[in-house]
Amino acid sequence: MNTPSPMPQVLSLPGDALAVDPDGRPVLIGCVCETCGNRMFPFAPVCPVCMSEDMARAAMPREGSLYSFTVLHVGPNTWKRPFIVGYVDLNNGVRVFSHLRGTEFQIDQPVELAVAEIGKTAEGTPIVTSVFQQAKT
Ligand SMILES: [Zn+2]
Repeated sequence: MNTPSPMPQVLSLPGDALAVDPDGRPVLIGCVCETCGNRMFPFAPVCPVCMSEDMARAAMPREGSLYSFTVLHVGPNTWKRPFIVGYVDLNNGVRVFSHLRGTEFQIDQPVELAVAEIGKTAEGTPIVTSVFQQAKT
């Protein structure tokens, strides 16, 4: 008799920041200021540019380029280690801090959004969140 595998646990990002597009691909939900057009991720209730509170949720582009990254050998006990994090400049100019999936990275390389397991809870449940990986060509 097979035991069902545990349901993946999706990390709770501020403002329900991770969604799925109509093609089943992950998409980050940030925001756009309806007053000045400033775009940000994650969602913020006040625009830091013009102080407007007229903020609308907006899907972020799934592609960008790697601005910077580093390899971390310490972190939560439940995360795979070492792991790589970095800043990604999305194609709309928004800079996002994220886990990266892969082993070889270069500054300015094209990357795309994905979802991946970054560890397991103490009970063995997969911890799944948004990541960026080398863009498929
Ligand atoms: Zn604004």
